[in-house]
Amino acid sequence: MEDLTNISVIKRLFEESGFSFSKALGQNFLINPTVCPKIAEMGGADSDHGILEIGTGVGVLTNELAQRAKKVVAIEIDTRLRPILSETLKEYDNVKVIFADVMKTDLNNVISENFEDLRVAVCANLPYYITSPVIMMLLEQRLPLDSITVMVQKEAGVRLCAPLPSREAGAVTVAVNYYAEPEMLFNVSRGSFMPSPNVDSCVIRLKINNDTPKGVANEEFFFKTVRGAFSQRRKTLANSVSSAMNIDKQTVNNAITSVGLPQTIRPENLTMQQFIAFSNALENIL
Ligand code: SAM
Repeated sequence: MEDLTNISVIKRLFEESGFSFSKALGQNFLINPTVCPKIAEMGGADSDHGILEIGTGVGVLTNELAQRAKKVVAIEIDTRLRPILSETLKEYDNVKVIFADVMKTDLNNVISENFEDLRVAVCANLPYYITSPVIMMLLEQRLPLDSITVMVQKEAGVRLCAPLPSREAGAVTVAVNYYAEPEMLFNVSRGSFMPSPNVDSCVIRLKINNDTPKGVANEEFFFKTVRGAFSQRRKTLANSVSSAMNIDKQTVNNAITSVGLPQTIRPENLTMQQFIAFSNALENIL
């Protein structure tokens, strides 16, 4: 197998197929040879698992996954990579590449059609322009996954793995903590990619909770409240929720005090249970 982290190999593959990077598709390919084996190992790629990969690039991570997992299904939007991948993945009979937009793919179907009785995990170096939407889609659909191990921009990783409550927390932190246990695994410098992005990255792992937190009366309203709470980060909970959800401030304050919180509280200071209690109370009052 050729070394897909070797720049001359990548350049030759590009020349042969006429491929050039698309910035719009978040194409920063990994060229640091230590990173993909670590993602594969920490992401649970083993003989018990089927791995769903999002975004193959030239197949550098796909190769490492295929060597360890029972089966790999990778979803890649860019059909220009087809000739390259048929070359770089040719020695594996346990890899299937689906050329499609992951955001428009029925992943439940992909999993049930391809992985049968296998345990399933997601491993990916995610395209940065859709990091949060992809993660939220994977979580909200309650796919039968063990874990999601992904490379994301450092700043996004810090937000996704922030403790609750904390200054770094945002709506996505609450959502991630609702469905999973997030964990920061390791940092990856910008020089590990070709072309090199302007920011550093990190790899995070979300271990999926089979039991989501108890007590949420209405999930849709809960997540709407959480998004409203963090819509203006440094404002008080009352001001943010009132303006984002178009509810008069007195009503929001009544919900806040009814669950024993001070009216001056900021969204970054609430625990998961306090968010749940507050959104239940707010929905009741309305
Ligand atoms: N896994 C490779 C690596 O580590 O070098 C490539 C990672 S690159 C950051 C992201 C990959 O996701 C690109 O190959 C890009 O074409 C693909 N991609 C971008 N948007 C996508 C989408 N909506 N659905 C599926 N793949 C997408």
